[in-house]
Amino acid sequence: MEVNSEQISRLVEEVVKRVKSELDNKDKAVQLSGFSSSDGIFSSLDDAIRHAEKSQEFLLSLGFEKRKEIISSMRKYAIENAEYLAEFAHRETGLGRVKDKVAKNLLAAKKTPGCEDLESKTYTGDDGLTLVEMAPYGVIGSITPTTNPSSTIINNSISMVAAGNAVVFNPHPSAKGVSNETVRILNRAIRAAGGPETLLCSISEPTLETSKALMKHPKIKMLVVTGGGEVVKAAMASGKKVIAAGPGNPPVIVDETANIKNAAKHIVDGASFDNCVLCIAEKEVFAVSKIVDELKEEMKKNGAYEINSRQADELVKVLFKDTNREHPVTNKKFVGKDARLILEQIGIHVGPEIRLVITEVDENHPFVYTEMLMPVLPIVRVRDVDEAIEKAVRAENGCRHTAIMHSENVVNMTKAARALNTTIFVKNAPSYAGLGFGGEGFTTLTIAGPTGEGLTSARSFTRQRRCVLKDSFRII
Ligand code: NAD
Repeated sequence: MEVNSEQISRLVEEVVKRVKSELDNKDKAVQLSGFSSSDGIFSSLDDAIRHAEKSQEFLLSLGFEKRKEIISSMRKYAIENAEYLAEFAHRETGLGRVKDKVAKNLLAAKKTPGCEDLESKTYTGDDGLTLVEMAPYGVIGSITPTTNPSSTIINNSISMVAAGNAVVFNPHPSAKGVSNETVRILNRAIRAAGGPETLLCSISEPTLETSKALMKHPKIKMLVVTGGGEVVKAAMASGKKVIAAGPGNPPVIVDETANIKNAAKHIVDGASFDNCVLCIAEKEVFAVSKIVDELKEEMKKNGAYEINSRQADELVKVLFKDTNREHPVTNKKFVGKDARLILEQIGIHVGPEIRLVITEVDENHPFVYTEMLMPVLPIVRVRDVDEAIEKAVRAENGCRHTAIMHSENVVNMTKAARALNTTIFVKNAPSYAGLGFGGEGFTTLTIAGPTGEGLTSARSFTRQRRCVLKDSFRII
């Protein structure tokens, strides 16, 4: 058959049109589903775990040097997207402040330890050589909160991958968009460094049911939960190895020896950071009577607004659904909201410079015994440091999470640190110094008080394995 040039060009045109239409349809499908499977986002938990399992095997085959390159790439992508993810989180959850969320994302990207956190150990002697190495668990199930959605995923991903694991996330349903976007970006970073396609996986429509299914799944070798008391309880009943990062209610103690100007600024900075949604943030103050008035005046110079007891009573009605001491229930509508908006609810109008509401109350006030996660900070006047410590221990409520103290007296600080027995104890700085933000040390967004790992890092997500060689292979 003879084909002329006109027919050839028509044929080429037709083929190009068809290929283009197929590509367009594929793009549309990806857009409609929001994610392609290679982004690591799956509608089925089984699919997510299967992909994570395969990717983890591939990761281990790449060797340690490649793993370090992968971690560097994850840091780079997380830094480049810190602002975008902070805005996304704020838009989606309505919690906190964009600027502070950017800081949390950057902190997680830069100060989460990588592969250098893993240490091997050797024993040599007359009986030969023994090697102990920190090995990965396999596929970790990580359940993440709404309060620090992207920063927790950046932090957990760096730590868990550095330790050689794959992760399947079950994000909080109210933060699924930004959480899954973070997973997608980090997977891109991993692929760009020559790593597996889907080392990080997540569920497209996470719910309490998918969270529970993840806890029960036989292929999940370790569970890491970051959230409130209920999820910690549920995970610890799963029968699996669990690292649980639970709630806190961090007290602040200020004694008469403190530098009051500094203490006031540090307390306002810590308690208003991201509108107090951080689990480590200052939640109530116990200050000795002698310095309370000065402390409040200095706090007001740094962005705090004081309300009186009648206004505090009005605010309780707005911010609480139930004030029962055993099970206080806050009005979720105001979690992580600006102080300005909270004050408006009781008819007080202030400018954007106001970041924190303060009020003097007694020890038994719901503002004291509740982890409100709002920029509302109660101040309790006490006789002396001993009364402050006793009341701070009660308010901390056995969480053993975080406490802060402002003092120049080492004896008082030691007494408080021992009595409070918390995972983090910050002296003379805002609470976030305890996460390495303006303080020394590495960072984490998963502080495991209930299960005792404390500030988690790559080594927390490993199991120790021992290899013994009898008699031979020694050089002395
Ligand atoms: P949350 O407990 O409501 O949710 C956390 C995660 O757990 C979500 O993914 C949620 O879907 C899941 N979940 C909740 N209840 C569950 C249940 N019964 N069974 C299975 N899954 C369940 O917490 P949140 O509001 O997102 O976060 C705020 C809380 O987390 C605060 O109490 C805060 O102190 C705590 N937190 C602790 C740390 C830490 O490092 N210790 C860090 C961040 C937040």
